[in-house]
Amino acid sequence: MKQAILKISGVVLASVLLMLAQAQAAPQSIPNGPWIQDDQTVKLEALTSMEELQKKLFDIYARSKGRMQVEIAGETTSGLPLYLVKFGEPDPDKIRVLIEGQIHGGEPLGVEACIEVIKQLAASGNPDIDMIRDNLTIWLIPRMNPEGATYEVDGEVVQRRQNSQPWTPEEWGLPPDAPAPWYYRSRTPPGYDINRDSNPDLDFELGPANAYLLPGESALPGFFVTPEARTVRDAYKELQPDVFIDLHHRGTNLVSEEDISMCTLQILAQVVDLGREDYPLDPAVLNFSKQINAYVYQRLLEMGNSPFTGVQRYPDVNLPGTTLGTFTLNGSAIMLYEVRTARQKSSGMLTKQVIIGLMETLKGLADESIYDVDPADYDEIPPAGPRIGNPHLFFE
Ligand SMILES: [Zn+2]
Repeated sequence: MKQAILKISGVVLASVLLMLAQAQAAPQSIPNGPWIQDDQTVKLEALTSMEELQKKLFDIYARSKGRMQVEIAGETTSGLPLYLVKFGEPDPDKIRVLIEGQIHGGEPLGVEACIEVIKQLAASGNPDIDMIRDNLTIWLIPRMNPEGATYEVDGEVVQRRQNSQPWTPEEWGLPPDAPAPWYYRSRTPPGYDINRDSNPDLDFELGPANAYLLPGESALPGFFVTPEARTVRDAYKELQPDVFIDLHHRGTNLVSEEDISMCTLQILAQVVDLGREDYPLDPAVLNFSKQINAYVYQRLLEMGNSPFTGVQRYPDVNLPGTTLGTFTLNGSAIMLYEVRTARQKSSGMLTKQVIIGLMETLKGLADESIYDVDPADYDEIPPAGPRIGNPHLFFE
C-alpha cells in the first residue's frame, strides 16, 4: 500500500505545482448541463483543476503565517495527490473536526466550499476566527477524488462519480476470478465509488481470510481497496475527530407538492439504522449529530427571506460503508450536505450556503452554543420533497 506522507514546504509545493501544471494542459471550459447524469459526469463552465487547487492552497498557505499546514496525505492509483489541510494538530483539549469534499468526483461544489473555508480560517484579524482556531483542531481534505474530478472524455473534463482504479484481486492475494466489491464499475475506464469503500473496522484489510465477504452490498461495509478511502481513514485515526462533515450534491427536489420552489440543500445526521446488532450506532453520538444539523438548519433559516430557506432532511439511508457511516460508528458526530446540482449561474449561491453552514458549525462548536440545541429540533427539519430531474439518479 502506497502511503506517502509528505510535509510540504513552500519549495516542495512549488515544484509539485510545476509538475502538475505540466501534466494538466486540458481545457476546463465546457457547455452547461442541467443534471448530474447516471454515471455522475457533471458539466459546469468553471471546474477547479488540480493545478488551480494546488495554486489556491499554496497561495493561502503562503499568507497564513503558520496558521495552516498543507500535506499530501496520500495519492490515487494514478499518482494524483490527496491534499490534507490542517489547522492545528490533534489536541485532547480541543474539539476536533474533519471535513471532506468531493469524494464523488462529479460533485464539485464541495471543493469550492472547502477552499473558501480554508481561506477564512487562515486569515487574521477576525475575533470569531481567532476563537475557532483557539478552540478547535480542523482538518480538511478538499478533494477526495482527484481522478473523478479530472475525468475527461475526448479531451474535455466532464468529471464523474468514481475514481479510475481497476480491480486487482492479486494485490490482495486473491485468485483472478475473485468478485470485485459491489461498488466497482468495470466499464472503461473502471473505477470505484470511493464513498462505499470504508469499513467501521478501521483496521480491516482485504485478504484470503475474509474474501468470502466479497462482493458485499450497500447495507454492509466496504473493503478499503481504494487509496483514497485508506487515506481519509488514516487521517481519521490520527485526528480522532469529534465531528465529521461530508460535502455532496444531489439532483433537484421541490420543497413540497404545494411549494414548487427548488430545495437548495438537504442535510442528514444519521446514515446507519439504529438498533443494528452488527453495527450499533451510539444514541449519544446520534444526538450530537442531530444538534449540529439542527443548528445549521436554524442558522440558515434565520437569514430570513433568503435562498437558504429551502433546506430539507435527506432521505433515510443505511450505509455503513460510506465515510459518514464508518466514522459515526467510530464515535464521531456527522453531518451530510447534499447541495442541489445546478447550472453555473446558481453555483455561487449554492456553495455559499455550505460555507455559511460550515463556518456556523465551527463557531457554534467553539463558543459551545451548538450544545444548547435540542436534538429533537432535528426532527422538525422538513423531509425531502418530490424529486424532479434525472430519473436514473437514485442515490448520491
Ligand atoms: Zn455524492
